[in-house]
Amino acid sequence: MSAPDPHPPQDLDRYVRQIRYPPLGAEGQARLAQSRVLVCGCGALGSMLANTLVRAGVGRVRIVDRDFVELGNLQRQFLFDEQDVADQLPKAIAAALKLRKMNSAVEVEPIVADVGHRNVEQLCDGVDAIVDGTDNFETRFLVNDLAVKRSIPWVYGGCLGAEGQTMTILPGETPCLRCLMQECPPPGTMPTCDTAGILGPIVGVIASIEAIEAIKILSGRRQAISRHLTVVELWDACIRQVNVASLREQVDCPTCKRHEFPWLDGRQGSQTAVLCGRNAVQLSHPGASVSLEHLARQLEGVGEVRRNPFLLRLKVDQYELTVFPDGRAIVGGTHDVATARTLYAKYIGH
Ligand SMILES: [Zn+2]
Repeated sequence: MSAPDPHPPQDLDRYVRQIRYPPLGAEGQARLAQSRVLVCGCGALGSMLANTLVRAGVGRVRIVDRDFVELGNLQRQFLFDEQDVADQLPKAIAAALKLRKMNSAVEVEPIVADVGHRNVEQLCDGVDAIVDGTDNFETRFLVNDLAVKRSIPWVYGGCLGAEGQTMTILPGETPCLRCLMQECPPPGTMPTCDTAGILGPIVGVIASIEAIEAIKILSGRRQAISRHLTVVELWDACIRQVNVASLREQVDCPTCKRHEFPWLDGRQGSQTAVLCGRNAVQLSHPGASVSLEHLARQLEGVGEVRRNPFLLRLKVDQYELTVFPDGRAIVGGTHDVATARTLYAKYIGH
């Protein structure tokens, strides 16, 4: 946990109901007040996570997000409203303005940034836990590398359609994301919220499970932390708990066993280049391979899609994404790398 500091003491009256819950108690609440969490991504999961953790009295909540609030977010991103859309506020800033009104004793640190291998160490500096509010596996594998390397507990979570899953990772003790998935899904192989849709209630369920796991970590209640992968499917009202306790011993995980961190080293993951004079950004994924036919099916109804054997072109809003079979994409309509990466994550997925 972080060292105590001159942060103003919190008025405990507001937490009286959760202090009364014996597994947490006053001592657990005091530990929460001294802790710092990173909410990585502030879309659907992240805004609910930040909301819950600020209300619970986590001392410092750092929020990083690269995106702006859009009308299509409001159906499931519980912190935002129509005024944020009109004001074109970055999500981290819009979130912080609201969170400070909910609990002024909490230090909220909004950071508008694209999480990458060059800044992730700095973003995670001094945090006691990381919670997953990202929308792509590339960032999750990067966070997993950092978390295992620096021994920071983190809570993975993701949602799509009416289904979501979450798992808590205690580095050196429980399986990591790479133990579970071995490899980051290649670009264009996974549906995204923008291609397959998402319902608001699943966000609430997964974010709530992530939040309670974070509260257990930050209050020092390690024995209560889940050792399962939890999978929830709300449309069919089905909850599954997969016991992953022995996974770390069973698989030869390069992250846990050999301390290899290719995402953190920048050897894995996308590379970007602003194309001068073209108002476009190129993203490349070394070693990737994309089925344009499969991608075209995923993008049905999303925007105008044209395809030939060499490339696929998607027109959506004011942007044009040109995708090549090697996973490379040219995102036209912006010279901003973060915007291009957001569009790639939304429509191609990685
Ligand atoms: Zn592992």
